[in-house]
Amino acid sequence: MTGTRVMLGVSGHSHVDPRLAALPERGEGRTAFPAGWALIEHPIHGPILFDCGYGEPARTAMRRGLRRVYRGVLGVCCPAEGDASTLLAQRGIAPGDVRWLVISHFHPDHVGGLRAFPSARFVAHADAWKTMQRGALARLHAQVWRELLPEDFVARLMLLAPDRFTALGGDLAPLGSGVDLFDDGSVVLVDLPGHAHGQIGLATHHDGTRILLVADAFWQHAQLDTPQPLSWLARRLAMHASGDYAATLSRLRQFRDAQPDAWIIASHCARTLERWTHRHPDAVLLASG
Ligand SMILES: [Zn+2]
Repeated sequence: MTGTRVMLGVSGHSHVDPRLAALPERGEGRTAFPAGWALIEHPIHGPILFDCGYGEPARTAMRRGLRRVYRGVLGVCCPAEGDASTLLAQRGIAPGDVRWLVISHFHPDHVGGLRAFPSARFVAHADAWKTMQRGALARLHAQVWRELLPEDFVARLMLLAPDRFTALGGDLAPLGSGVDLFDDGSVVLVDLPGHAHGQIGLATHHDGTRILLVADAFWQHAQLDTPQPLSWLARRLAMHASGDYAATLSRLRQFRDAQPDAWIIASHCARTLERWTHRHPDAVLLASG
């Protein structure tokens, strides 16, 4: 299937010290991690979003209580001019034009702008949605915030039950299992467990080149080359299941080795965004200034 194009967007940043997580690329002190998302321009289904970064509901939530602590610890900065809805408008896409919004997982830096899209059908893994339905303490631990979701969220939600995921074929085979969203291979949702319960990625093409959006399956592309374990702190705070996380990373390495021309794009990898911007300057949605 050809004809899809991908644009990478950024709506907000967090600022943390990569040494705390034992990440391979370390600067001096706090480093900016983009809250990345992607727009897939589909010839039949129109604009499709994969996550949407922070947005107004996240900004409002982070003004009070424990959400404010989250904001401080992660050094979150997400001005309104960077909201996904604002950036899409610059591209001539109105919020109501977005018909599909695929949710990788429910962390606030991925779903903080959902409310801006009144006509989108939401797609998520059933296990990820289960996390949102648990008690307050479990939700706090899983870092999922109910107030970010629109009132009619459930009515617009299409859940992917675990048995919908079947073995992938072709170039995606090393990735394990997934769901072909439109039954034509143009958008395939890939099971990427580990970081969060029921995390999914999205495989598509940009002008014929394979693109694999992996959300938080890793944070820095260099992790694919450095099979070094993350710090205890990162495993405790940013990991649903470390065994699954390692297995997912190993499948991504196999895919990368078999498909060296494919782009594997993690939501928070500044280096990948830099490379992409250099190669495709017309396929990036960023707030100017
Ligand atoms: Zn996350």
